[in-house]
Amino acid sequence: MAAVTRLFRSSSSSSSALFYIRRSLSTSAATELKSQTCPPRIDPKGRNVQWVFLGCPGVGKGTYASRLSALLGVPHIATGDLVREELSSSGPLSKQLADIVNQGKLVSDEIIINLLSKRLEMGEAKGESGFILDGFPRTVRQAEILDEVTDIELVVNLKLPENVLLEKCLGRRICSQCGKNFNLASINVKGENGNPDISMAPLLPPSQCASKLITRSDDTETIIRERLRVYNEKSQPVEDFYRGQGKLLEFDLPGGIPESWPKLLEALNLDENDDKQAATA
Ligand SMILES: [Zn+2]
Repeated sequence: MAAVTRLFRSSSSSSSALFYIRRSLSTSAATELKSQTCPPRIDPKGRNVQWVFLGCPGVGKGTYASRLSALLGVPHIATGDLVREELSSSGPLSKQLADIVNQGKLVSDEIIINLLSKRLEMGEAKGESGFILDGFPRTVRQAEILDEVTDIELVVNLKLPENVLLEKCLGRRICSQCGKNFNLASINVKGENGNPDISMAPLLPPSQCASKLITRSDDTETIIRERLRVYNEKSQPVEDFYRGQGKLLEFDLPGGIPESWPKLLEALNLDENDDKQAATA
């Protein structure tokens, strides 16, 4: 972890970040060779996990990453949160970020890496070790940079069929008064190709919120489908990259949190009781 932070730190100016990118691009062939012999390693007892969570918008990636980070005692680092925090701060990047976001542009790899390096440094100073990354890496270039500086053990790819994702996103509502999120969709989808059925209960609002619900303006079928298409196009190479390294764990969510959480723990060789044992130890 110290090495991670050190290397990230030395790439914290954008010129040296570019140096690391160039270096990592030139070593990508070597990475491929190394990958052939690298089996997935899942060690539930080693709590300093260095995991990455992938999954399309609406799949619930943040929820599962955050639950697992609590269970394993490692930080859940979501690059989306890092960007939002920097935007609302008076930090050195906030003005630059605001310009990029206002112009509807994508935040560059260099800025994301700067933010991530700052976050890891801060965590290291507080004695953190391990992490679950959410929203990073988004590109093969970022994945290669990450490989230069740390050893990602496992990449969990959370998946739901497109029709389920669509229904789930269309059901999203926000209370215009308290800002809480709800979901009106009651999902019951027959499993295809021998897969089990998928059901998800709605998350209904209490009576004081029920009359104040609003829909995000970008939660329309056209925009959701386009969001998924763009996500799939971008994430495919990243999935292939980790698949080639033998680190990708594909996980088809069997439903909402009550159905999926125990199955996810099972797939990760984890036991929720580990948490309680650790708490009483
Ligand atoms: Zn409310």
